[in-house]
Amino acid sequence: MLEIKTINELIAFCENVKKEGKTKGLLPTMGALHEGHLSLLQRAKTENDVVICSIFVNPVQFNNREDLEKYPRDLEKDLHILEENGCDVAFTPSEEEVYAIEPAEKYDFGKLEQVMEGVARPGHFNGVATIVKRLFDWTQADRAYFGEKDYQQVIIIKDLVRQFAIPTKIVVCPVFRDADGLATSSRNQRLSAEKRSIAPKIHQILLKSASFTDTLSLSQIKNFVINEFKMYKDFELEYFEIVDDQSLQPVLNKDSNGIVGCVAVWLDGVRLIDIQRYY
Ligand code: AMP
Repeated sequence: MLEIKTINELIAFCENVKKEGKTKGLLPTMGALHEGHLSLLQRAKTENDVVICSIFVNPVQFNNREDLEKYPRDLEKDLHILEENGCDVAFTPSEEEVYAIEPAEKYDFGKLEQVMEGVARPGHFNGVATIVKRLFDWTQADRAYFGEKDYQQVIIIKDLVRQFAIPTKIVVCPVFRDADGLATSSRNQRLSAEKRSIAPKIHQILLKSASFTDTLSLSQIKNFVINEFKMYKDFELEYFEIVDDQSLQPVLNKDSNGIVGCVAVWLDGVRLIDIQRYY
């Protein structure tokens, strides 16, 4: 595996790949790699000649200083994992170089960012779009891989690609879960053993709520989920919304073509998110 640390090297490498008539798949990550990331890597490997995984803890997408400081980092381990799993290139730029040009970009995703994560984490999606757009510009990737766990992020990135007519195809991958149902996340490693054993309740509650789609209204389902979280004092629910899977606007009737429930919940000082598809 090749490790590329600078933007100029990345650009030159990607231009060469293109000259050779090969396709490039991009997997943007913040490191602390886990099996969720690897499921995206495997998919990217089957669909592209060359796979580039970026590892960059992007400061401008954190609205909470403590979250940024506590974000797990282990580059040596990540490089080993990528190598073992057949990644072609790890792109590991420094913050100084990535933001040598001040991140002054201002993106507008309208209503898509006026709900859920966009409200809970002001500036978050502007920060995400800033780094993802720059990665798209540098790599000119044919395809880029994103996880459905970050559902709102996927819809925002699709909108970014639409707004700027970026030719990169966005490939959306399903949520990867540990055997007990907890969506794998870099943040999970910050949970104590005791709280880690409670965390699978998040998926269990959402899954149970989906079993009521034929018998309960969406507002009843929403209340069910909110009340379930209240029953476990370890959880502090930040939001649970049932939204249209394209517009991300809350829906109360079942007319939408696709409906997704999105949750953000605190456990043990760690913020966890997950989703459940209803239709
Ligand atoms: P992150 O390093 O957390 O920014 O994640 C990098 C990419 O991996 C994002 O597109 C995430 O949505 C995706 N991802 C993270 N966790 C999972 C998971 N459990 N299943 C599928 N994709 C995931």
